[in-house]
Amino acid sequence: MRILVVEDEVKMAALLKRGLEEEGYSVDVATDGQEGLWMALESEYSVVVLDVMLPEIDGFEVCKQIREAEKWYPVLMLTAKDEVEARVKGLDCGADDYLTKPFSFSELAARMRALIRRGSIPRPTVLVVGDLKLDPGKRQVFKAGEEVNLSPKEFSLLEILMRHPGEVFSRTRLIENVWDFSYEGTSNVVDQYVAYLRRKLERPSSLTFIETVRGTGYRLRQVHN
Ligand code: CA
Repeated sequence: MRILVVEDEVKMAALLKRGLEEEGYSVDVATDGQEGLWMALESEYSVVVLDVMLPEIDGFEVCKQIREAEKWYPVLMLTAKDEVEARVKGLDCGADDYLTKPFSFSELAARMRALIRRGSIPRPTVLVVGDLKLDPGKRQVFKAGEEVNLSPKEFSLLEILMRHPGEVFSRTRLIENVWDFSYEGTSNVVDQYVAYLRRKLERPSSLTFIETVRGTGYRLRQVHN
């Protein structure tokens, strides 16, 4: 699960990043509205935690533009004061929930879990490629009607490939979408996860498979019969 935190206060951003990573999330941090918006539109996130008071573009505007781009992941706004007006404005711009500073980390973590359980609204449609079916809302994958259990990273990797069947993804692009921008490991991790996915998904009679494109990366192919 990838989380985007948009927060200009360095100390606060670092605290959130560390805390959320301890909960098992991958966390990207943006320190102004412009950067936050760019990252939110460039990648897929499970939740965006968005401070209201930001340099460049404020949190309300960032949220509004995320929705205008038809990105439906849950947005949790952080407001400085318990202002009714801020809350109304927050929900009006398409935010799902808000939290007033100061808040406890456990409160934030609980809200995030609730948002993740609820998923995106409107729920993204179920993806179908060949004999593969992936439900982003329920986080389920079926191969020829049989449910397959995937780890969160395997799921994210398959999801991005299924959103763009036939399109070649470089290892770098996959890392940026499935891991996070500050991931410093080697791109071998992609090969490793593709191997895991193949082991779980490919059967002798598979109609869908992950193809290695020499010197470039990977793509999801389907056999037409
Ligand atoms: Ca701020």
